[in-house]
Amino acid sequence: MEVLSVTSEIYPLVKTGGLADVTGALPIVLGEHGVSARTLVPGYRQVMSALGKTRKVATFRNLFGGPARLLRARLGELELLVIDAPHLYDRPGSPYGREDGKDWPDNWARFAALGYVGAALARGLVRGFQPDIVHAHDWQSGLVPAYLAFGDKHRAKTVFTVHNLAFQGQFDKKIFKNLKLPAEAFAMDGIEYYGGVGFLKAGLQYADMITTVSPTYAREIRTPEFGMGLDGMLNARDGSLLGILNGIDTKIWNPSVDKALVRTFSVASIKRRSENKTAVLERFGLEAGGGLLFGVISRLTWQKGIDLLASSIDQRVAMGGRLCVLGSGEAKLETAMVAAAKRHPGRVGVIIGYDEQLSHLMQGGVDGVLVPSRFEPCGLTQLIGLRYGAVPVVARTGGLADTVIDANSAAIEAGVGTGILFKPDSVGALVEGLSRAIKLYEKPEVWARVQRRGMKSDVSWNVSAKAYAQLYQELTGS
Ligand code: ADP
Repeated sequence: MEVLSVTSEIYPLVKTGGLADVTGALPIVLGEHGVSARTLVPGYRQVMSALGKTRKVATFRNLFGGPARLLRARLGELELLVIDAPHLYDRPGSPYGREDGKDWPDNWARFAALGYVGAALARGLVRGFQPDIVHAHDWQSGLVPAYLAFGDKHRAKTVFTVHNLAFQGQFDKKIFKNLKLPAEAFAMDGIEYYGGVGFLKAGLQYADMITTVSPTYAREIRTPEFGMGLDGMLNARDGSLLGILNGIDTKIWNPSVDKALVRTFSVASIKRRSENKTAVLERFGLEAGGGLLFGVISRLTWQKGIDLLASSIDQRVAMGGRLCVLGSGEAKLETAMVAAAKRHPGRVGVIIGYDEQLSHLMQGGVDGVLVPSRFEPCGLTQLIGLRYGAVPVVARTGGLADTVIDANSAAIEAGVGTGILFKPDSVGALVEGLSRAIKLYEKPEVWARVQRRGMKSDVSWNVSAKAYAQLYQELTGS
């Protein structure tokens, strides 16, 4: 079984969130299930400079405004196909925008090119590589199924995975004529979306199968509350929508060998975590000593409930415990978090930025990892928390609800709780969740049991990779 994965991010080359973790880990684990996967990615500046030996496998005289080459490369265990198109990708900044956070105005062309090349590969562009499945991720790859729905016949089946329905890739209708799609594609049952062009909509409309990254989110997005305007069409495609939980790469996230930790540890030596906690406290300028340390590692956005967190801080500080926050995002939320740290020196510490190494140290040192999201397709920080003995304190929504078992008294009695769940979208419920965590922490033996249970739970890709492999087999009838 040959699979082409199409994505705008892949760890360790380019990452702005969980999408990169998934696309970087899944192809490797799929290998253990008889699936050989290659990944198509844009040749952003940071990608091109990280590639070692490459081989040119195709050229394009004019790929959405300029010449381009398709390169084959290997990165560790990953087989890559990279679109070297300087006019589209050779720029500073993030994959999606300028350093000041503004989207690139030609994002439609940058990601139409990704979809176009993905579809060309499915039609046998490169000799010796005929994918049975094209697996496209998020709106940036949403045009792959659209290009494959028209024109020459091919045998590839398409899977489109939604990692977050909130990012929709909407553009003005005037770009449609440049997409190289037939006029009939601009229709309500095509890529037309509220009068414009919707790349996410295209993926949802034309893919043979739609998946999202947790069973609960797969249910939620069928409702108006979570459907972001797409619930109607998702319901219409009900039989082709499946939730498959993400895992994490347990080699990268392994507390017993993690070099970013001051002290490595395992479930048998959980007490050693305290040295990492001391390092985290120092790094964030927080008071030393006992008491629960909460950590947040997150995009600072409304989705992640960071405004709720900011509003809860004064109450939380009064309850005890300390909080460290690593993240970046919306300017007003960054400001609110920095102001909270100023108000509560020694109790609240905030580092604005993106720091992979520090995120590992925090997971290995904080007592509770806090995820107050309003909606969460899957969420990876709580999975990493489970593996690192950082007890997840999370909102009961999407993948958070699917991966954390609330340690209420019945669950503790039954020996199954792995974290604390609270109702999403309210400061009161968040504060109650924090208070429950603080109370649980006051019983060190019970807390340690919850921690150990989390560390033992399977957060790897094993189960999910098998589910994807099965899905591919069903689609190809093999
Ligand atoms: P999303 O993809 O919605 O941002 P996920 O929980 O699925 O959220 O994945 C987030 C990933 O990004 C995790 O690997 C998390 O550790 C990482 N991350 C988020 N913010 C930061 C940050 N400021 N520094 C380092 N890593 C971060």
